[in-house]
Amino acid sequence: MRTLLLFLLLSLPVYYLASGEEVTPAPEIAFPKMDHQVEIIRLQGSKPGQTLLLVGGIHGDELASCLAVERYTRLQLKRGQMIIIPRLNQRAILAGQRGLNGVDMNRLFDLPEEKLPQPEGEVINLIKKLVKEASCVVNTHQGSGFYSPTWINRQRNPARWGQCNVIDAPFFDLPNGEQLRLEEFANRVVRKANLKIKQSQYHFQVNNTNTASEHSRHKEQRKSLTYYALTQTHRMALGVEVTKDCSLTEAVSFMTIAINAVMEELGIVPTAAPLTGAEAVRKELTEQNRLNGLTVLVNGKKKTIPVGGSIFLQPGETLTLVKLETPFPLGWSVQTRENKERVFPDENFAPARDTTLQVRKDSQRYLFPVRVRKSTVTGLEVALSQKVRTYYPQETIILPARQSFKIVRVLGETDGPVTVDIKGFVGNQRHNDGRDSGYEVTAEKLRPRFALDAEKTLYRIEVRKDNLLLDELFLKVVR
Ligand SMILES: [Zn+2]
Repeated sequence: MRTLLLFLLLSLPVYYLASGEEVTPAPEIAFPKMDHQVEIIRLQGSKPGQTLLLVGGIHGDELASCLAVERYTRLQLKRGQMIIIPRLNQRAILAGQRGLNGVDMNRLFDLPEEKLPQPEGEVINLIKKLVKEASCVVNTHQGSGFYSPTWINRQRNPARWGQCNVIDAPFFDLPNGEQLRLEEFANRVVRKANLKIKQSQYHFQVNNTNTASEHSRHKEQRKSLTYYALTQTHRMALGVEVTKDCSLTEAVSFMTIAINAVMEELGIVPTAAPLTGAEAVRKELTEQNRLNGLTVLVNGKKKTIPVGGSIFLQPGETLTLVKLETPFPLGWSVQTRENKERVFPDENFAPARDTTLQVRKDSQRYLFPVRVRKSTVTGLEVALSQKVRTYYPQETIILPARQSFKIVRVLGETDGPVTVDIKGFVGNQRHNDGRDSGYEVTAEKLRPRFALDAEKTLYRIEVRKDNLLLDELFLKVVR
């Protein structure tokens, strides 16, 4: 017995033992290296139960949907299964548009194969397959205004979509004589969710679009994912709409409250559900968008470039993207800013001239200039606490808060004068000439507004010849 326990313990993935810190499992990737790539996360509970297919981002301008769904990718389940797609319509999301070229991805589910526009059609076929694996489908949206069964005003009326659970019919008769009781289900979800929402103007309502009916106000919903899942695949299907008329934090919080309620109703039990309080959601949204840097290989040598830094290549050298340094690895893509050439991990990239790598997630953009330079700089000689040490280009000098260091000289470049400029430090107080070699640098002398990071600890050191940036190192203050 003891051996078995030990074996189980050792076979657990390392990250569970390491810190209890949450991590995103590696996604399955459909259509890899295509602009319409789809990331799929599967969660398997220790006990079997219902399977929820949770879809975000079928529309590209409904960010709360993507971000709320993404939060579920790190759950651990005690019971049940989840198939999670935070960003179904990746091209539209990056463009910040509902759909690309006027194609609405949620109006394609009634089309025969040969009429499907591409590449959306491939995504439609993928999601149709996944619907079959699920017992319940939730498609998430962010709409304008507030749904109300009666007309209140222009913002709050039956034509608006915000803050409702959409069903296509009160119930659906299955061929085997059983019934899918959508209205009862949606009512229970809404009641449960509204208990957690203090301000009643944000309470969810059930919005039955009576999609199949002659008199339906929303006949276009016959082309939707939920209608397909209900009528063609006989799955419990629900649309969850939060409003755009609130902050992103609030919208994500409302969506999380609704999804948590759906999971509870289905008996899908996580070890801990995502938090819904404003502070917790705000903190997590910052983490979801956070990029700390890029780890790359330059001619086989691994370097991590912090955000705000540049990548330096000698002419003819190749660059390989290893990974993005981020706590939430989903939804990111890298391309050159100039000609939108995609750059994928583990592929060699050899730009002939200067370019910029644009790292994107949703509406976020991080830029990394790639500078192609003929440079013979091999490093900086630095005196730090009585010791002289060489730091190589793109290395980081660690400066303990109470110590000081001095740049002694630039190594390698002998052809003409080379200067070292520590951004945020002024060596020559009379005349800031950007020549900081030889001056004593302490943490107190650094100007925080030049720091690259939010914590104001990371600074850039430029090695220049005349106006040309030859190379770069970093300085990190440790308190
Ligand atoms: Zn939508």
